[in-house]
Amino acid sequence: MRNTHVPHLCLNCNEALTAPEIHLSVNRLGHPLCTPCQHDLKTKLEQTSRETVKLYFLLKKRGIAVELEKDDSQNSIDIAIVNAKVNIEVDKPQTSYNRAKAIDELKRRYYSFEKGYYTLQIPNALVAYDQDDAVSFIEEFLQVSCQPRSYYHC
Ligand SMILES: [Zn+2]
Repeated sequence: MRNTHVPHLCLNCNEALTAPEIHLSVNRLGHPLCTPCQHDLKTKLEQTSRETVKLYFLLKKRGIAVELEKDDSQNSIDIAIVNAKVNIEVDKPQTSYNRAKAIDELKRRYYSFEKGYYTLQIPNALVAYDQDDAVSFIEEFLQVSCQPRSYYHC
């Protein structure tokens, strides 16, 4: 008899997961992750918006080398694609205008640009409601702006 069991894989590293790992990880962090990835990503997953995490795992699934909440010397980037020198910021819905916050955002973009990084702003609602369009657009953007496939895992 053929074994038709398809193992569940860690969303972050594609390692096969055990049933207890899946149970614990989904209950604690909302995503099926292996134990090392749970430890590595726990703080980031708890502090990052649901849409940013969703986009991170969708891009990972497409084989794009993404980093979640990457810290550089000036700020924290929602999703970084270092090989492509592209940063992705998932825009949170704004309820009111805050001058200091707006200027800080502008400075963050400037510092990234100074280092050769382009910042792609993705509307929160696009990830929430039309995730496939968001991911397809990012892939097209990477294809146009980068060396062929340099942003994918080897
Ligand atoms: Zn993992």
